[in-house]
Amino acid sequence: MCLSILCDYILTGYGFPLAKYSREVVTQVLTATDIVEIVGSFLELRPSGNGRYVGLCPFHNEKTPSFHVSRDRQNFYCFGCEKGGDAIGFIREMEGLSFIESLRKLADRAGIQLPAMTEREDKDEYLRSRLIELGAFAARFYSETLREPLKGGKARQYVKTRTLADATIKKFGLGYAPDGYSSFLDAAKAEKFRESELDASGLVKRGERGGYYDTFRSRLMVPIRDVSGNIVAFGGRDLTGASPAKYINSPETVLYKKSRVLYGLHEARDALRKEKQAILVEGYFDLMRCFDAGICNVVATCGTALTTEQAALIRRYVPEVVVVYDGDAAGVRAALRGVAILTAAGLTVRALVLPDGKDPDDYIRDAGAEAFRAMVDSSLDFVTFYIRMNAERLGSIEGRTDVAKEVFTIVQGVDDLMRVDEYLKRAALELDLDQWRLRQEFEALLRGRGTPVQAVAEEKPAPRRTSQDDRDFLSVLLHSEPMRERAEKELKGIALKPGPFAEVLTAILAGVQERYEDEASASLYAAASNRHETTADQAEVLVSRRIVSLKREALLLEEQGLEEAIRQAKKQNDTARETELVLRRIGIRKEIDGLGAA
Ligand SMILES: [Zn+2]
Repeated sequence: MCLSILCDYILTGYGFPLAKYSREVVTQVLTATDIVEIVGSFLELRPSGNGRYVGLCPFHNEKTPSFHVSRDRQNFYCFGCEKGGDAIGFIREMEGLSFIESLRKLADRAGIQLPAMTEREDKDEYLRSRLIELGAFAARFYSETLREPLKGGKARQYVKTRTLADATIKKFGLGYAPDGYSSFLDAAKAEKFRESELDASGLVKRGERGGYYDTFRSRLMVPIRDVSGNIVAFGGRDLTGASPAKYINSPETVLYKKSRVLYGLHEARDALRKEKQAILVEGYFDLMRCFDAGICNVVATCGTALTTEQAALIRRYVPEVVVVYDGDAAGVRAALRGVAILTAAGLTVRALVLPDGKDPDDYIRDAGAEAFRAMVDSSLDFVTFYIRMNAERLGSIEGRTDVAKEVFTIVQGVDDLMRVDEYLKRAALELDLDQWRLRQEFEALLRGRGTPVQAVAEEKPAPRRTSQDDRDFLSVLLHSEPMRERAEKELKGIALKPGPFAEVLTAILAGVQERYEDEASASLYAAASNRHETTADQAEVLVSRRIVSLKREALLLEEQGLEEAIRQAKKQNDTARETELVLRRIGIRKEIDGLGAA
């Protein structure tokens, strides 16, 4: 025991990650992978010559393509949001996976078998992989219990009332968590899952006396998958009628972050790409009913308020969402923030409300899939929809102004001016307000502060900015051999501040094509390699300027160090040393001044 703790300490104590597959393995997987094919399976790419491709960036909202993929360099880079990297980085970003999970995914695709990660090699990664196994085991256990003649009877009866096809029940892996305190716990332990793993999965809880018991009891179980299809959580519907909570969900775990998961997204992926539109519903059964009826471009929030991450996730697959409400005008008003988030993510939002307060599950069961499809097809743009939903408030000018202000909170998040214009026009028309006045009001609001949608807009992740100079400098070095030689000569022995820039610069000067696992370095390298080449004159100026500034940075750093040393010498009354250091500092100052103005 002691020995193994000591071992872990020694292994991880050096501060470099041992958790990784060797560089050779990573290279092998990347060599067997074509990034153009990988990216092309997610978005449309257009060839732009020389093995380069462009498309609309899946990571930020844009109308003109600035997302570049290079077949030669096997990397991608977006000039808009500055995300970039290799195929592993793309999968990691696109699917929200870890480095190793992305690597594994590409390896699987290329038919390369990777040895399993052991606990000693990487504790976190090992736990993640165990939790994925545990999720799959739990789903099997629950669905087998549902089929058991005795235990599953009550649950099967309930499922029957839902009238879903067997194929749908199987596709979504419905199951049953039996009564009793430790049915699942005992079964999982018999399969050699450890208590610590069960604890981390949230499928069991620790009781007051220290022992564990099942989190889900007497509940219909709905497995929740991540984008890649791993079962990361469960939703459990009470079947006793006695529980105060009709639905309970797994707690958040290392695999399950509620704000980043959309129910059904894994199953809907292909249909989303094909239909270029997502239908957003609320509940598990709304979604399953849609699939059951052959409508598969559907995702569900399952009771939680929509988050920016979920909106961004949808945006990666489709440009348009149809939000289905089963509520009244008050319900729609309450959901305004969700629409603002979708709009701010760059999605076009349409909406519909089903008659008689029905949810999609009821509606499709009663009226059929074709009727539902027709509702979706005739759904209105959100501005028009919202105003019509609030018809009873439009009688007075005050009411109309209030509704207009509510509409503004949506329009404010749109960064496409043409669409803003269109929305304002429609709002003026529907509200019977003067177009010019409405626009003035809107612009006044934009100048104001603390408005609801500004708060939403602030949630957008700020793009990571690397310095333009750094990118251009590295780009010139990559593309010009003489410049590279010159920089190498002039920068010899110069100390670089550690960081992505230093890492990439060192690699370029050494002439090695590096793989960067660190995201910032990978992005910087991709930026440099995709930058358009400059003229020889520009390159000359750029390189001279950056060499000087790098020298200056190094000298300033040295000067700082000397000042500290001088203070020390003073403290110790070491006059000889102090004089020597002061002289050196004067020398450095001269050198800095000699470099010219900053
Ligand atoms: Zn982008």
